[in-house]
Amino acid sequence: MKRLALSLLALSVSTALLAATPTTPTIDPHRLSDDVKTLSSDAFEGRGPATEGETKTVAYVIAQFKAAGVQPGGDLKNGKREWTQAVPLLQSDIAGTPQLSFTVNGKTENLTQGKEIAVRSALDGSKAVALKDAPLVFVGYGVKAPERNWDDFKGVDLKGKIAVVLINDPDFETGVGDFGGKAMTYYGRWTYKYEEAARQGAAGMLIIHETAPASYGWATVANSNTNTQFDVVRDHPSSVHTPLEAWIQRDVAVDLFKAAGLDFEALKKQAQTREFKPVVLKGETFSANYKIDSKVIVSHNIVGRIEGTKRPNETVIYSAHWDHLGIGAPDAKGDKIYNGAVDNGTGTAALIELARAFAKSPKPERSVVFLNVTAEEKGLLGSEYYASKPLYPLATTVADINMDALDPHGPARNFTISGSAKLDLLDELTATAKKWDLVYSPDPKPEAGHFFRSDHFPFAKRGVPAISFGSGNDWVDGGLAAGKAAEDEYVAKHYHQPSDEWQADWQFTGMARDLQILYTLGSDLANSDTWPNWSKDSEFRGARDATAAQRK
Ligand SMILES: [Zn+2]
Repeated sequence: MKRLALSLLALSVSTALLAATPTTPTIDPHRLSDDVKTLSSDAFEGRGPATEGETKTVAYVIAQFKAAGVQPGGDLKNGKREWTQAVPLLQSDIAGTPQLSFTVNGKTENLTQGKEIAVRSALDGSKAVALKDAPLVFVGYGVKAPERNWDDFKGVDLKGKIAVVLINDPDFETGVGDFGGKAMTYYGRWTYKYEEAARQGAAGMLIIHETAPASYGWATVANSNTNTQFDVVRDHPSSVHTPLEAWIQRDVAVDLFKAAGLDFEALKKQAQTREFKPVVLKGETFSANYKIDSKVIVSHNIVGRIEGTKRPNETVIYSAHWDHLGIGAPDAKGDKIYNGAVDNGTGTAALIELARAFAKSPKPERSVVFLNVTAEEKGLLGSEYYASKPLYPLATTVADINMDALDPHGPARNFTISGSAKLDLLDELTATAKKWDLVYSPDPKPEAGHFFRSDHFPFAKRGVPAISFGSGNDWVDGGLAAGKAAEDEYVAKHYHQPSDEWQADWQFTGMARDLQILYTLGSDLANSDTWPNWSKDSEFRGARDATAAQRK
């Protein structure tokens, strides 16, 4: 069976090469396998940022970039580029047990961290959070979207107050409206809601958890918010974080609304319209008191570059995160090393192999950057840091093509991207993939907001056309049944577990073929003078168009 798959692959690739892309260099599945094997070996300790594992990973990737023949593209030091970009990260923990309570009509109701409420440690630079009887204001979905003529705040004063907000965007429940129907726009994501709360000057925000619109249960919220929090070190952290950022359980919110003489479901219906106005929860306040332990750790993005011959200031970026979860709680077998072979040894190996392919080919007209970012697992922080302090201007960054957790098996007849989005870059990828007889399969669950959960997103948010490529599941050998079974097994048994380990029977032939497609997409962009953009109704179009004058 495997023989058959391989010969089919060879046939389709060679036909495509003859027809469309005679210069596509060879991508070697054995090298991909070797790189993944090394990066995910126990010696690399699960590649935790700012650990011994980081030191080994950074050294390995730099050695591969050097051997490939690409140039260092990182921080400038004494007029010379280094191989890395230093990424300072703020590490923040709540010291001890936080004191949290509502006061409802004069009566204090204490809240237990992780149970009724999940408060994340402050990332706005606070050393302590002390809120005494802060008023509560329900602000619907907390959306301010000028391009959609939508403003849930209507000028309300949130200074010293706590904004209470619904998760997802205003048309998630109805399925039709100005926010992509069921699919989640960025306005539906919790990160957006916290950022908007900071822009509105609130003292804090409570997001009401509901399983369907959040796309995950309370356990996920509690687990990921009550542990150590990280952010990039920002010049103005309070411009994107309020001191208090938290979720509350739906039942808690329903009771709170009821005690204020309000009906939760009726108010939610109102919040699904443009006419919605903020509602004060009368007679109710929120109090919080705890100290914050914080420090700065330094991790690194690894950056290789090939300078363009004609337009060196225009850049095509390939990205992938190198970090994984490091050493953690042991599994049933006592294994404590979270090797991260698929997540994201595969993407890092892909990035190295693309660097080799570009270095062997005639130099492109535009520059190509190979960006191996850190701290994805801590909240897309390496990519956020690069995008907030770009080494090459974002206005003249043509595109970011990201790779995360690729399939190490045989080839598929389809491909996907993380989440849903409308942009020329996806159209170009789809057209390129067609030359290899691959079809685009959209994300079957766009309401989960996967578009906002991978390293291309910090670029997208700032207007740079960006996508995260995903391997297909309709396998040449075994079809959808085999592809889906492998996906399901990975999610259930290996995803974010110590067993995400390199396997000797992984062929890497699917990845090798997909990388020819991604090479061609990036190479075509790097040898053209086109500027792909977002569709007219995209929430990222405005940010891109704002810098149009810098792209002549
Ligand atoms: Zn990943």
